[in-house]
Amino acid sequence: MSDAIEAVLERFPWMEAFKDRLQEKCHDCGKSIGERHTPGCDAARCRECGCQHMCCGCDTEPDIWSGLMMPNLHWICLQRDLWCYDAIVINDKEHPITTPELYRLALDIQLAGDPLEQFKENLQELAGEPVRSVKPRIRWHIPCKRDDPGAHADLNRASLAQGIPDAEVTALWV
Ligand SMILES: [Zn+2]
Ligand SMILES: [Zn+2]
Repeated sequence: MSDAIEAVLERFPWMEAFKDRLQEKCHDCGKSIGERHTPGCDAARCRECGCQHMCCGCDTEPDIWSGLMMPNLHWICLQRDLWCYDAIVINDKEHPITTPELYRLALDIQLAGDPLEQFKENLQELAGEPVRSVKPRIRWHIPCKRDDPGAHADLNRASLAQGIPDAEVTALWV
C-alpha cells in the first residue's frame, strides 16, 4: 500500500471498507490524493451539497481527491447498510459476480448471439450442473447484506437517500 493511501485511511478510517477501490490519482484531472480537483473535473464533488461539482450550481470550490469516487455516497452506504450485488442468471438461479473474470463473462453473455452455445463450458462450471437456460442480461443491483458474495456499495440507493447533510458532509474531504 502506498504512503498516500495509508495516510488517507488514517484520516478516514471508514474508507477501509472500500480499500480495493482507492486510486492514487483522479482519473479525470490527474490530481493526487490530498490535492484539490481542477474545476470541471467530473470526479469533483461539491463541498456544500455533496453532488457532482460540475453540475450542482453551488458557488464553491471543488473538493479534494480522497482516492475514492463519490466518497459521500460510499459513506451513506456504510451508514445505512446499503449493499447490492450483480448476478448471472443460469437455470433461473442467481450467481453473484464475485471476480473480474465473472464480470467479463457477464459482459460477453450480454453481447453474444447465443450465449448458451458460445459459453456453455464457462456457464456449466459456474452453475455446477448442466445448463438449460441463461438470461442474456446481467441482473444488476440486487440488494443484499454486506458480507454476501459479490456485495458492493449500493450507490444507486445511496443517491436516492441523499439529503441528510450532516451524514454526507462528514465524509467529504473539503
Ligand atoms: Zn479530479
Ligand atoms: Zn453543490
